[in-house]
Formats: sequence, structure tokens, C-alpha cells
Amino acid sequence: MHRRRGFKGIGYHYYIRKDGTVHLTRPIERIGAHARGWNSNSIGICYEGGLDCGGRPADTRTPEQRTSLRLLVGQLLTQFPGSRVCGHRDLSPDLNRNGEVEPEEWIKACPCFDVQAEFGTPSTT
Ligand SMILES: [Zn+2]
Repeated sequence: MHRRRGFKGIGYHYYIRKDGTVHLTRPIERIGAHARGWNSNSIGICYEGGLDCGGRPADTRTPEQRTSLRLLVGQLLTQFPGSRVCGHRDLSPDLNRNGEVEPEEWIKACPCFDVQAEFGTPSTT
């Protein structure tokens, strides 16, 4: 999808296939093109899927993808201690400024699961 949209290469750094294979799609030293405003200091991970059969956003991760994602995030946190792990949707603007990005404020739904709950990183707010 990113290639079609004219990005140079793939905007994310990691891509996790349904079978759990992790692809390094962009060298980590190269600034990502995945989250406007956050690209210069973030690492992007994308998983294959994310839409249900009706084309609606959904958490479609396979058990293999969950395992790989957990391992990868663990490795990255070792490499970059103290980093915040969050989902694309969590970077949406907090429109009503109540300190929480709520579902009605999401500019996109991905990654379709609660990253903070799953990876147990404390909220920055
Ligand atoms: Zn996304």
C-alpha cells in the first residue's frame, strides 16, 4: 500500500506476516513514514491484516503474529529503554483535551487493539 501511495520504500520499519515472520522493511536508522509528527523519533511496526471480511478495522492478529509482536517489542524496549509503546490511533489529537485520546477522536483505527493495555506501558498523561 505504501509503495502505491508513492512513499520511498515502506514507511514502517517492521512488518509482521500472518505466519509470524518479521520483516525488517526499513533500516532503523532511516526515519519512518508512518505517523505524522512522530516519524523522527519512533519505530513503526505493522502487522499484516487489520480488516475484517467486511473491510472494517478489526484485530485480526494470528497467534503467531501476537507472539512475534511481543518478542519484537521486547527486543526494542531492551534496545531503547523507557520508550513508550503505543498504537497509531493513540497518536490522534486529543480534541477535547481531557488527557485521553478516546475512540471518537481517533483519526484512524489501527492497530485495532489496545496497545497500552497489552504492553503495559504507563500512559504519559
Ligand atoms: Zn497505522
